[in-house]
Amino acid sequence: PTMAHSQALLVLENFIGGKFVPCSSYIDSYNPSTGDVYCRVPDSGKEEVEAAVKAAKDAFPTWSSKSPSERSQILNKLADLIEHDLEAFAQAESKDQGKTITFARTVDIPRAVHNFRFFASSILHHVTECTEMPAMGCVHYTSRAPVGVAGLISPWNLPLYLLTWKIAPAIACGNTVVAKPSEMTSVTAWMMCKLLEKAGVPPGVVNVVFGAGAKAGEALVCHPDVPLISFTGSTLTAQRITERSAPHCKRLSLELGGKNPAIVFDDADLSQCIPTTVRSSFANQGEICLCTSRIFVQRGIYNEFLKRFVAEAKKWKTGNPSDPTVNVGALISKEHLEKVRNYVKKAQAEGARVLCGEGVDPLTLPPGNQKGYFMLPTVIAEVKDESCCMQEEIFGPVTCVVAFDTEEEVIKRANGVKYGLAATVWSSNVGRVHRVAHRLQSGLVWTNCWLVRDLNLPFGGMKASGIGREGAKDSYEFFTEVKTITIKH
Ligand code: NAD
Repeated sequence: PTMAHSQALLVLENFIGGKFVPCSSYIDSYNPSTGDVYCRVPDSGKEEVEAAVKAAKDAFPTWSSKSPSERSQILNKLADLIEHDLEAFAQAESKDQGKTITFARTVDIPRAVHNFRFFASSILHHVTECTEMPAMGCVHYTSRAPVGVAGLISPWNLPLYLLTWKIAPAIACGNTVVAKPSEMTSVTAWMMCKLLEKAGVPPGVVNVVFGAGAKAGEALVCHPDVPLISFTGSTLTAQRITERSAPHCKRLSLELGGKNPAIVFDDADLSQCIPTTVRSSFANQGEICLCTSRIFVQRGIYNEFLKRFVAEAKKWKTGNPSDPTVNVGALISKEHLEKVRNYVKKAQAEGARVLCGEGVDPLTLPPGNQKGYFMLPTVIAEVKDESCCMQEEIFGPVTCVVAFDTEEEVIKRANGVKYGLAATVWSSNVGRVHRVAHRLQSGLVWTNCWLVRDLNLPFGGMKASGIGREGAKDSYEFFTEVKTITIKH
C-alpha cells in the first residue's frame, strides 16, 4: 500500500498485561469482499509470546484464588459489554472474514456473548466426587484446580465465536490465558481486549498475541510455561502442534476438520430436509467445520431430491456481505477461493456433474465487490467415493450428492473417510434413526435437524477430527487438574 493508503489502515496491537503494545513488524489483512488490504496485524514472535506468558504467569496466583462466583460476575459483565456493542462487533467480523452481516449478527456475536454467560453460570454448578471405604476407614474425594497459563489458538471461520468458546471456560476455571487468533481474522479479538478492563478482568488474565501460526503460534506451543493448548483448526496444523508440544508433555485439546455426511432415507420429510441441508452445506460460505459436504440420498428419491435441492441452492444469493438479503458472502482469501475452485475442476475432470454454481451459472457482483473472493453455492453429483471431493475437507460452498441403496451400505460409505466430526440423518423411522446414529463414526449426530446445540454436552470429533471434547463438563475437566485425596479416620 502507498503511504496515503496505509494511513487509513486499521492497525492492531498486542494486548499484554492489560496494555496495548505495538509490534516491530506487521502482516497485511484483507477485506475478502473487496480484495483490499484494510488492516495490519502484529507479526508477533517469541519475544511477544514470552512477554504475554510472563504477564499471564504473574496474574495466575490472584486470579486462580478468586471464588468461582467472583469470576462468574466478571464473565457476565464482559458478556454484557460485548452485547452492548453487538452491531459494531458484527460489522467488524463481516468485514474481516467476508461472512454476511446477517450471519455475524445472528450467529457469531450472539454466540460469543452466550459463551461468556454460559460458562459464568456453569462454573457455579460443578461437584467433585467422593467415595467411602469403610473397611479401610477411608474416604476418598477429588479436588480440581486451575492448571496455569493456557495457550488458545483459533481459526478464521468463526473468529470471536470460537475464541471465546475457549477463553470463557479457561478463565472461568481460574486459569490465565495467552490467545492467538488467526492472523486473517484478528479484529474482533482486539476489540474484545478493549472491554476487558471495564469488565473487571485483571491485567494479565487475558493476553492476546496476534500473528502467524508458524511464528507466534509455534512460540506459544513450544513455551515451557504453557502446560495446556486448546486448538481449533486444521488436522495438518494439529499434527504439527502435537509434535512440537510432545517434548513438554502438554495437555492438548484438538478440534479439527470434518467431511460431514448427511444421510437422507426415502421416508425423510423433504420439506424440512432440503432447506436444512442447503443451509448445512452453504451457511457461512461452507466455512464451518460442521458443514455437510457429502449427501447420501436413497435411490428411490434421488432424482426428486436432486431437483429440489438444486432449485433451493439456486435461491441462495451470493454478493456483498453487508447486503442483508445476501446469503453467501466472500471466502476468506484469494488462495482459499482458488483451492475450493480447484476441487470443482478436479471433480469435472473425473467425470462428475456440476449441477449449479461454479463454472455453470453466472456470478454477478456489485461494482465494489469485483475483486472479492466470491463463489456461488455449488452442487456436484455422480462423484465417486474415492474422489478427493468426497474424501478431503473442501471448506467452501461445495457439496456432493450421491445415491445409495441400503442402510448397511450407507453406514459403511459415510464412515469411509479419515474424519469423524458431525453427521446428519434424515428419516421418519425412529428405530432406524437410533440404529444409524449409533453406528456412525462421528462425534456429533443430528437427526432431522442440523446445528441444534446444547453447550452442556460434549462437542468434538473422532478419528482425524480431533482429540478431546468441549462443553460444560468437558471444558471444565480440560481446564482443571484433578487430584484424588484419601483421608483415613
Ligand atoms: P489452521 O490450522 O490453518 O489455523 C488455525 C490456527 O492455528 C490459526 O490461528 C493459525 O495461525 C494457527 N497455526 C497455524 N500453524 C500453526 C503452527 N505451526 N503452530 C501453532 N499454531 C499454528 O486452520 P484454519 O485454516 O484457520 O481453519 C480452518 C480449519 O479449522 C478447518 O479444517 C476447519 O474444519 C477447522 N475447524 C474446526 C472446528 C472444530 O470445532 N472442530 C471449528 C472450526 C474450524
